[in-house]
Amino acid sequence: MQPQDALVLQDLQHDYDTLRAVDGVSLSVKAGEVVCLVGPSGCGKSTVLRLAAGLEPLQKGRVAMRGETVGDPERRVRVPPERRHIGLVFQDFALFPHLTVGANVAFGISHLPAAARMTRVHETLRQVNLEHYIDAYPHALSGGQQQRVALARALAPEPSVLLLDEPFSGLDERLREQVRDDTLGLLRRNGTAALLVTHDPEEALFMADRLYLMRAGKVVQSGPPQELYFRPVDRFVAEFFSRINELRGVVRDGWVESPLGRLPASGRAEGAALTIAFRPEAARLGPADGMIGEGPALTAIVQDTHFLGTGWVVHVLASDLDGAEVELAVRLAGRPPQAGQTVRLQVPPEAIFLFAEA
Ligand code: ADP
Repeated sequence: MQPQDALVLQDLQHDYDTLRAVDGVSLSVKAGEVVCLVGPSGCGKSTVLRLAAGLEPLQKGRVAMRGETVGDPERRVRVPPERRHIGLVFQDFALFPHLTVGANVAFGISHLPAAARMTRVHETLRQVNLEHYIDAYPHALSGGQQQRVALARALAPEPSVLLLDEPFSGLDERLREQVRDDTLGLLRRNGTAALLVTHDPEEALFMADRLYLMRAGKVVQSGPPQELYFRPVDRFVAEFFSRINELRGVVRDGWVESPLGRLPASGRAEGAALTIAFRPEAARLGPADGMIGEGPALTAIVQDTHFLGTGWVVHVLASDLDGAEVELAVRLAGRPPQAGQTVRLQVPPEAIFLFAEA
């Protein structure tokens, strides 16, 4: 553990009766870092966050904050949530309805003398642009404003780490992007370390310096967003972030035979059946009789095209390795070819993922 680590979780395990909800999760959040814990609903993200906060008794593993152990059942260490220097933000904001905005924000800093407390309340509300609402009650505020009050309340005590559980899920889509943007700006300006739980892949990519992708209680892959997006360790990781196209491949004579031509086998066993995958935006389309450049390519027929505003989605039909028809999706920035046209589909080698077939 490094002294600059705001939060370290070591080998956490958690059972609800017979269900192992968390199965050997380790992660760290460095000072000033925004880390996202992401994965499909039910994979154990919230449980990890609750264990970090001390809201759930730790069964196995260790939780440390700024170098100090705050949870370790083996050594009988269990620092209660209110003494962990954490800030908490939940999906439902959890504001006190009978307290004004100012009193909500003052809640976690009651140990400060009155004058200092007031200064801090004003300062924090100013940061979220809600200073004028200091005497309002939560019900008089919009969802986005309530979320900002919740954020201000969590930040007022200057926590070592902010823990956020699906903080934007309660907001409608338009508002969500704005609030997300503002929240990230605020965390950056304050240099606040944060662990954010979300099921939304785009949100995780947008927010995270590093992310941990969970599946069924375990971390499947962790790293910076681009590493998970461009170098997924398996099909689950690849598919989590966007639709992927899949073709079949098989290793013969040291090469992968595939509808895209021969690809490097990169040490895979002779005869191994593989899934060849690529993202819709990685592919390019060109005239059937020409090559757009060197590299893996196949011939396909345009099925249909859909305008998205920011570009187009083109569905094409191609032949898989066994001759079966396969539909592939391609995202283009510019004008697409017409339905019925025969085209050449090309994928840069570095954008092709090879996965062992399940
Ligand atoms: P996520 O946050 O990824 O949606 P959770 O940590 O909430 O996942 O839940 C992980 C698993 O544990 C799920 O199968 C969920 O149903 C179960 N679970 C969560 N909380 C409890 C609880 N208090 N009692 C029993 N099972 C629970």
